Amino acid sequence: MTSDLREALVRAIEAEMPRARADLEDLVAFRSAANPEIEPPEECHRAAALVAALFLDVGMEEVDQLPAPDGSIAVVGRTGGPAGAPAVLLYSHYDVVPAGDTALWSTPPWQLTERDGRWFGRGAADCKGNLVAILLALRALGEVCGDWPLEVALVCDGSEEQSSGGMEALARERPDLVRCDALVLADTGNVELGLPTVTTSLRGTGSVLVTVRTMEGPVHSGMYGGAAPDALQALLMALASLRDETGETTIDGLDGGGTWGGAPFDAERFHADAGLLEGVEPLTGHDASVADQVWARPAATVLAIDCPPVSQVTAVVQGSARAVVNLRVPAGVDAARAQHLLTEHLVRHMPFGAQVDVRPVSLGQPFQARTDGPAYRALGRAMHAAFGRDMVTTGQGGSIPLATALAEVVPQAEILLLGVEEPDSRIHGPNESVHPDELRRTALALALLLADLGGVLESG
Ligand SMILES: [Zn+2]
Repeated sequence: MTSDLREALVRAIEAEMPRARADLEDLVAFRSAANPEIEPPEECHRAAALVAALFLDVGMEEVDQLPAPDGSIAVVGRTGGPAGAPAVLLYSHYDVVPAGDTALWSTPPWQLTERDGRWFGRGAADCKGNLVAILLALRALGEVCGDWPLEVALVCDGSEEQSSGGMEALARERPDLVRCDALVLADTGNVELGLPTVTTSLRGTGSVLVTVRTMEGPVHSGMYGGAAPDALQALLMALASLRDETGETTIDGLDGGGTWGGAPFDAERFHADAGLLEGVEPLTGHDASVADQVWARPAATVLAIDCPPVSQVTAVVQGSARAVVNLRVPAGVDAARAQHLLTEHLVRHMPFGAQVDVRPVSLGQPFQARTDGPAYRALGRAMHAAFGRDMVTTGQGGSIPLATALAEVVPQAEILLLGVEEPDSRIHGPNESVHPDELRRTALALALLLADLGGVLESG
């Protein structure tokens, strides 16, 4: 890594920081929650127009605002590079989750505000901060290198937080929009401030709806209780068999012994973030760590049960009951197979000869990033040079459906998940913020990554 180029990029980024802050301030001012019941759609439209203008301003040649099937607008751009140079796609999103209860905010959510060295505002980190880091990297690289040394594609999604699949559908319809050799999904972040992190693993999901019937209808618990096959009890017994008393998931035939090899998930942080009460500990099975449990192992969770609510209590034994079970599956496990095993398990463990019907509710495959390609190696070098520390890997217990979809649409591309977020960013909650140093370092890492993939570092 040539230190001259690094130093020149550091200076260029520093000089552009006021501009980056102004861009972020303008972006945060739009209440771009892509839900017309919460914020007016014009907020998203105006945000999209600003993103398009910023893309042109940093030097993109072609920029379009494309309607997605879910009604959102994706802003896309592409600028060709030298012949034979690789193409890198940089993804972010300009929509945000709603501000929620503004009384819980210490600063106005739609006005970027500096406090204790951090910049507060909805979207300051997720994901407008990531967008600004991308813009900053492209500006700095342009200033230092003249033309960008590779093909650059930009995608800024307008409905990432909605789970409405707009960008996913658009990418499947128009694979040309996402064609690339390496894809940076800038929508995650670092496990701690200043510790460069790439997210390599996302769990998938395979939920089911289970319905149990034992009698034609409810019967009196005094007259029949004891001999009556209680459908609710049957359901509870089958559900209880999904985990043992240590919290280990125990679905017949499904491997629950995965271990996480990347950065650990601090148990105390988990305790605090999940709001565990005094005396209650994270469930770590027989031999697991928190990271194993949330990133490397399956987890079955009962999301809902249909049965009489306490407010309508009557003395009857239930003849039917149903529940939705959410199954999270780690990378390396086929979500459809896991869902099938869950279905068979519930049928097998249903007592009382009950009639059981189990139907799939949702299915999403897990994601495992490739870590053996040139872009991953270049990212490791760039992160080290930008942060002064070795890059670590982390996982996510939830899914990013777009990552899985893009892995299918552009199977040859290396997908790198990273970003400016860190635990103190409190994304999705009140008082979201970004640390400007994380913006600087992430922009530097991105600029160095692009320079490296564009071959500038070898010749320099
Ligand atoms: Zn996001």
